Amino acid sequence: MAKHKIAIIGLGKITQDQHLPVIDKGDDFEVAAVVSQRGLSHNGVPSFKTAAELYAAMPEIGIVSVNTPPDVRHTIAREALEAGKHVLLEKPPAATLAEFEDLKAFAAAKGKVLFATWHSQFNPAVDEAKALLARHGVGSVKIEWREDVKKWHPGQEWIWEPGGFGVFDPGINALSIFVKILPFAPFVKSASLTYPANRQTPIAAKLVFGSAAASQPALTADFDWREQGDEKWHMTIETAAGHKLRLYKGGAALDVDGKLAVEAPSEEYQRIYAHFAKLLASGESDVDGAPLRLVADAMLVGRREETEAFVW
Ligand code: NAP
Repeated sequence: MAKHKIAIIGLGKITQDQHLPVIDKGDDFEVAAVVSQRGLSHNGVPSFKTAAELYAAMPEIGIVSVNTPPDVRHTIAREALEAGKHVLLEKPPAATLAEFEDLKAFAAAKGKVLFATWHSQFNPAVDEAKALLARHGVGSVKIEWREDVKKWHPGQEWIWEPGGFGVFDPGINALSIFVKILPFAPFVKSASLTYPANRQTPIAAKLVFGSAAASQPALTADFDWREQGDEKWHMTIETAAGHKLRLYKGGAALDVDGKLAVEAPSEEYQRIYAHFAKLLASGESDVDGAPLRLVADAMLVGRREETEAFVW
């Protein structure tokens, strides 16, 4: 079958690290154009400064991937749907819940596929953790997602601006795994959010979750951008039956009772684009807002604390 022609909007870090190489190596899609404010290009395909110019010049491209920072995602995605495109959204899918609801409704009204990706969900170890929790019940989940912001987001000023998510930019990846593996819906009961004195978004957050589960398992998250040395992207889980799980390497590896159970090379974006191809074939959207809702709720109930100013 001919490859789907896709245009990529925003040629920043994640586009360069994942989307472009994964699409180029895959069988389902072909990068046919890019939209780059800075005028970057890729393999000589046409590059446009705005999406409107792309839509006017190459109407045959029916699919776009929106890989910009989240605060502009709604405007860009709506414009794409209005132009009749199917749309893949990098995470988080919008800056607010209402924007995301609008995109979902608009895509449905236009009969277009909308795929809100959560890359960390696309790991075999995450699938196995979900299966084990379904079988053995949940005793407790302790999330630790700690990294050095200077290493992972060098110079990205948008993460500190309103709508930039701060430490929830990586933290929402952990939450996307959390909502996938739990057999019930978690609620944010309380949160403490630590803001640098000179910034608009948190550098650290501690969350405590509740749920309607009868056993009231202990569920916590610790997100921190001040980690030095190696990043810690892991969850320590106890099943109700007493098994000890450790999901680590951002969801790529799982130990069960001290033994490695699953570890696969990271192929998150390969699996994302394979899933997108299936969605396009079926005409269905995949629009899970649960991770975004938990971040929004943490902001609603969170207690603000202040810490020293952040400088790069
Ligand atoms: P980034 O390096 O700052 O790149 C974002 C790019 O979007 C910019 O380079 C720019 O590209 C474009 N852009 C910026 N402002 C724009 C605007 N106002 N309108 C249109 N385009 C704009 O950020 P990133 O790390 O790639 O992150 C982008 C998204 O991917 C975020 O939501 C992030 O959470 C997600 N993500 C990032 C990673 C990661 O490892 N970095 C991993 C997974 C997901 P042009 O100049 O080419 O237009």
